[in-house]
Amino acid sequence: MVLVSFPSHHASKRMRTAGDMPGRPPDVRGSPMKKPKTIHRCTVLARRDLTPRMVRLTLAGPSLVGLVPRPAQDIEVLLADAGGNRVKRRYTIRNARPQVGEWDVDAFLHADGGPGSAWAASARPGSDVELVGPRGKLELRAADGHLFVGDEAALPAIAALAEALPAGQEATAVVETGSPADRVPIGAASVRWLERGDRLPGDPESLLAAVARELRARDFEQVYILAEAHITGAIRNLVHGAGIGPDHVFAKGYWTADLRPATSGNPA
Ligand SMILES: Cc1cc2nc3c(=O)[nH]c(=O)nc-3n(C[C@H](O)[C@H](O)[C@H](O)COP(=O)(O)OP(=O)(O)OC[C@H]3O[C@@H](n4cnc5c(N)ncnc54)[C@H](O)[C@@H]3O)c2cc1C
Repeated sequence: MVLVSFPSHHASKRMRTAGDMPGRPPDVRGSPMKKPKTIHRCTVLARRDLTPRMVRLTLAGPSLVGLVPRPAQDIEVLLADAGGNRVKRRYTIRNARPQVGEWDVDAFLHADGGPGSAWAASARPGSDVELVGPRGKLELRAADGHLFVGDEAALPAIAALAEALPAGQEATAVVETGSPADRVPIGAASVRWLERGDRLPGDPESLLAAVARELRARDFEQVYILAEAHITGAIRNLVHGAGIGPDHVFAKGYWTADLRPATSGNPA
């Protein structure tokens, strides 16, 4: 895996680095201009193993100072694949320390993973990394009962969301991991852990059955589904079928089991 630093002629016209002057872009046709995305040039400050396959990386950069992400917003890490092509991979901002410009991300090291896993496996204190963020539309809504559904990749987001809930709002999480060794405790939620065992990641069976059990057992006002793209769709249908309408469901494919777009492993 190659970690690239994008020279200015590679940078997208819609991106500027944190050091650029925020000049007004020319708008020759009078069309609405998209706000340029700032590329944060960061350094890996620390690295810590949370489980044998989940690593916490602390990323620091001057342009992160003062930025306050919403719970479970994420970053796009700008990487290159083995062929040198630019790719992006998304990781949840697990903790932010705006005063000192530090963000923690917890990255799962997938055995058959791509550039994201390779970056996380090789990142060491002192490594440079470029990223964009905070981004993502996920927002917590006040509700009597919250249900979070996901897998290893969603653990950081589920933990961040559950911790951000106001006192008195109950959270249940249904989380599937390959084995118990992959579990990262989520103190703020009552968790139903599922073990995938020999089944392939992306097999919906176990998560669907467990979510159906939860929906029968109690009422949930707000549901967040953060899982493999096809599983996410199947669970969203199940939840709608249980009478929880689209306004109360946030569903996001965090990865795709059988589709690998050339520039990003994350579903659009
Ligand atoms: C908003 C958002 C936030 C996210 N936050 C996190 C986070 O905090 N931590 C985290 O670890 N991931 C997170 N993800 C998921 C992560 O971006 C994907 O898993 C990503 O595809 C990993 O990139 P990769 O380059 O290693 O593998 P890719 O090149 O994308 O895929 C290569 C192969 O790796 C395997 N693979 C990739 N991802 C998974 C997976 N999740 N489960 C099982 N097998 C997989 C598949 O076999 C796939 O074919 C997030 C995704 C989104 C959309």
